Amino acid sequence: MNASPVDQISFQNPFVDELRGETSGNKGSRQVPGYCYSLVQPTPVESPHLLAWSEEMGDFLGLAKPTERGPAVDALAGNLVTASMKPFAARYGGHQFGNWAGQLGDGRAISLGQAVAVDGSRWEIQLKGAGPTPYSRRADGRAVLRSSLREFLCSEAMHHLGVPTTRALSLVGTGDEVVRDMFYNGNAQAEPGAIVARVAPTFIRFGNFQLMTAQGEIDNLRALADYTLRHHYPELGPPSPETYLRWFEEVSRRTAVMIAHWMTVGFVHGVMNTDNMSILGLTVDYGPYGWLEPYDPDWTPNTTDFGSRRYAFGQQPRVALWNLMALAQALTPLVPDAQALRSGLNEYASTLASTQHTLLLRKLGLTPLMPDEDRALTEALPQALSEPEIDMTLFFRQLSHLAPALMAAPDNEAALFQELIAAAAYSAAPNEDRNLLQWLRQYATRLRQEAASGEETRTTMLAANPKYVLRNYLAQQAIEAAQTGDLTALETLMHVLKTPFDEHPDHAALAAKRPDWARDKPGSATLSCSS
Ligand code: AMP
Ligand code: MG
Repeated sequence: MNASPVDQISFQNPFVDELRGETSGNKGSRQVPGYCYSLVQPTPVESPHLLAWSEEMGDFLGLAKPTERGPAVDALAGNLVTASMKPFAARYGGHQFGNWAGQLGDGRAISLGQAVAVDGSRWEIQLKGAGPTPYSRRADGRAVLRSSLREFLCSEAMHHLGVPTTRALSLVGTGDEVVRDMFYNGNAQAEPGAIVARVAPTFIRFGNFQLMTAQGEIDNLRALADYTLRHHYPELGPPSPETYLRWFEEVSRRTAVMIAHWMTVGFVHGVMNTDNMSILGLTVDYGPYGWLEPYDPDWTPNTTDFGSRRYAFGQQPRVALWNLMALAQALTPLVPDAQALRSGLNEYASTLASTQHTLLLRKLGLTPLMPDEDRALTEALPQALSEPEIDMTLFFRQLSHLAPALMAAPDNEAALFQELIAAAAYSAAPNEDRNLLQWLRQYATRLRQEAASGEETRTTMLAANPKYVLRNYLAQQAIEAAQTGDLTALETLMHVLKTPFDEHPDHAALAAKRPDWARDKPGSATLSCSS
């Protein structure tokens, strides 16, 4: 099939066509009771130019890569609205940091409609930073280059790691400046603006349902639930109380799978508010996220959360459950037996445990031979890794390379372990590696029970343990270069993160341990919600 420019494709608009929306087009900030969305036109930007394009996403949607400037980029910046687009901002609410925040909504994201992919599936294209909507509250509806580049890079990197996520199609510079106080400390500065075109089957969040229930808009709640079932969970059958229960169970299951992936790749979302939880179980809203470098369950990159650490790495499984409970609460008007929603939550706990265990066994090159022993091994690992501040990515990658030697029961096993720890540890305090050494000895003994050869084991482990992840300081370096007009670092990262399990010997520096200077650097180690 020939690829078409995005300004020449035909958009589908089921969300707008099938749900109640407010159609005045008024962009003024306000409450919009009674509606699922507001029709709103993007606000044009000064000088849209393409900064980055996801080839995979483009090919999948049958879209031609745009030239730097022109109608396709104008469409991806919101400067050109074509006849088949019905741009809208969705209305939703949410719990922010545990507190009910009322109406939030798409304050700067505007969906253009759905594009039809080469396999016939339909994907919503949403512009983030496209200008004010009724949901902008006091903010400007814009996004800065640094946060847009981070969303663009990370959503594609997560996809290539196999983590359920929304995708990104393009990153467009706007030519406008946006004023942000990056650390909310009175140092507001003008920064270059940018817009990401992000892509997902839908961007419906837990918070869409929550707001309907909180406002007593039960007709809208039901309409939105039925819409979600019809378009995104058709395999569950026609809407009924029974179907709603199975749907909640499935959302719980998918959320558990997503969290299990986060916990095994070392991803910290940073703002797991219920408005940032996808109803499809996709990672959504890349803001002050970060990647674990020293393994530390208490780590979060989000400065807004430094006090309570509600969204720290190790809290994520618990927070997702809390968020699912909030969703269950929102769905109670649809099911006569509210208690029955509880079984969906059980699904969360069991899927999380089993998925995390399965993913970890793969990373360790183990087949499920010895359930009790293996569970003890995977459960002891977090504690063992956190004491000597082990870089999780480096650890698993080095362990994969070490597997053949360990399986041969070498005399110098202790020396191999020390080498592995030295290569992956940030702290070298004596005795802190005691638990890890003990864990490694047990692991090596267990590994030798495997029937596969050392080389086979190494190959399967290398396919489960990425060499490259989007280390916090690497994203920051790409941002600083892009702000001066140099896109090479961004392009190199895009290239490497597409195949993160490959060696890419020319780019080995991108797989190195975090350098010391990046330890506390703003933008690398610390991020805020200002974006
Ligand atoms: P977030 O913390 O990014 O998930 O955003 C929470 C809410 O604030 C959402 O309703 C966003 O649409 C809104 N928001 C964040 N930044 C802006 C902005 N610059 N302009 C308008 N709304 C925004
Ligand atoms: Mg959000």
